[in-house]
Amino acid sequence: MTPTSAVHVIGGARVDAFDATTSFADINPATGETLAEVPLDGAAAVNAAVAAATKAFPSWSKTPVGDRCQVLFRYKQLLEDHFDELTELIVAEHGKTTAEARGDVRRGIDCIEYACGAPSLLMGRTLPRIAVSSSFSREGDENVPLDSTMERIPLGVCAGITPFNFPIMVPMWMWPMAVACGNTFVLKPSEKVSLCAIREVELANQAGLPDGVLNLVIGGADAANCLITHADVKAVSFVGSTPIAKHVYATATAAGKRAQCMGGAKNCMFIMPDANRDAAIDGVLSSAFGNTGQRCLAGSIAIPIGDAADWFVPAIIDAAKGISTGVGNTAGVTMGPLIDCASRDRVLAAIDAGVNEGASLSLDGRTTNTPDDGCFVGPTIFDNVTPGMSLAEDEIFGPVLSIMRRETLDDAIEITQQSPYGNMAVMFTSSGYAANKFRTEAGAGMIGINVGVPAPMAVFPFSGWKDSFFGSLHANGEDAVRFFTECRILVSRWF
Ligand code: NAD
Repeated sequence: MTPTSAVHVIGGARVDAFDATTSFADINPATGETLAEVPLDGAAAVNAAVAAATKAFPSWSKTPVGDRCQVLFRYKQLLEDHFDELTELIVAEHGKTTAEARGDVRRGIDCIEYACGAPSLLMGRTLPRIAVSSSFSREGDENVPLDSTMERIPLGVCAGITPFNFPIMVPMWMWPMAVACGNTFVLKPSEKVSLCAIREVELANQAGLPDGVLNLVIGGADAANCLITHADVKAVSFVGSTPIAKHVYATATAAGKRAQCMGGAKNCMFIMPDANRDAAIDGVLSSAFGNTGQRCLAGSIAIPIGDAADWFVPAIIDAAKGISTGVGNTAGVTMGPLIDCASRDRVLAAIDAGVNEGASLSLDGRTTNTPDDGCFVGPTIFDNVTPGMSLAEDEIFGPVLSIMRRETLDDAIEITQQSPYGNMAVMFTSSGYAANKFRTEAGAGMIGINVGVPAPMAVFPFSGWKDSFFGSLHANGEDAVRFFTECRILVSRWF
């Protein structure tokens, strides 16, 4: 493949770099092949994109919601038609396996389908005769009723900043509902997956979004920071690591924007002695190593409780040895590379730190046989991890599972309650009592019972807690409708 140059999509057209002085090589992390040179633009590109979105807003916001959704219906069909092309692009640019890449596209399409319901989701509410008024009534007009109506109206230009790990789906947590609600949008995706984002936006324009309704700026931190403080941007949706989420939330809200910022995680998986063993092993395996551990819902700590450790620990090590690490679209491969070689080096350093801190390295992914040119680390498992070790505290975002054995459920719950993160926690058990206690005490917003990854679904809010989320209205579900609209209340009386 000949390297291309990643370009912005502004006002419905491809636009070359403005004044970027640096660029970034977008590589296939499984092969090292350069796919594109990504210009790291800043204020000039952001200003042009926000100007295009501002120009498109009056007409788009007045377009009947049913007509807006017709574009999304056409877009859904285009995504189905281009499913294989998008899958291959994700495998090449991100490194996922083909099955994981298909999941990324499918979960994105779910968001489009949900946004197609905007005519129902945007309905207001009316309460007739909320009160009666007599103070100003003319003779004969006693008890004039007051009626009250709540309606949802779009905000204006909204912005989205997204991470690399679900290149198609995560942007679709944001812009489809935003535009269905009548807003216009500027997306700044992760520079590491620019080609996926460009294709996602081009197909939306091909489906019939009017010029300027959805715009795409290619860039890094500079572009993001211009966008979140731009005077004409009303709302900012962010997904990424916790330090950047905190920074974006503080900066955007200080600049007067509404903001929802989803951050990182360190998720625990409890294995009770009475768990269905096959379900627990399968669930923990896919949660820890699926997407090469690069998921905010990756279970990175397994906590076998009581004598569950006797069967769980040898079985999970055996199962992880069966993972085949390699190029994502090769038959039989079940785990791809990390997103880039800097990530691989970070994960290797985390493994070295675990060894130095005294945890027992039960499966060493540094020695896995993998293709030479990619950014690979094999599945890695540490046993006897204790609180305070970096393996127990830091989000590694790679295929590293830490086992923390605990005697009782209460000891295990203490670990999740003390964690600064609260994205998800899962339990494998056949006890309803244990599951209920876990659900109410674990201190996480997404709970899985006998499920390794309680994945966010388009129809419900993605409810991370604590340092995994900053804001009040989450992505997806009805929260998204409320986030991307303003509420207007009308009180009226007629004589
Ligand atoms: P990241 O925080 O490095 O980057 C995310 C986005 O922020 C990118 O678009 C990047 O260009 C931009 N950015 C980077 N530095 C910035 C700065 N100083 N100011 C403003 N913007 C900046 O995250 P990543 O490595 O792309 O993604 C992995 C992280 O995302 C993990 O921590 C993962 O847990 C998290 N994540 C969270 C969720 C969730 O819903 N909670 C979902 C997916 C990923």
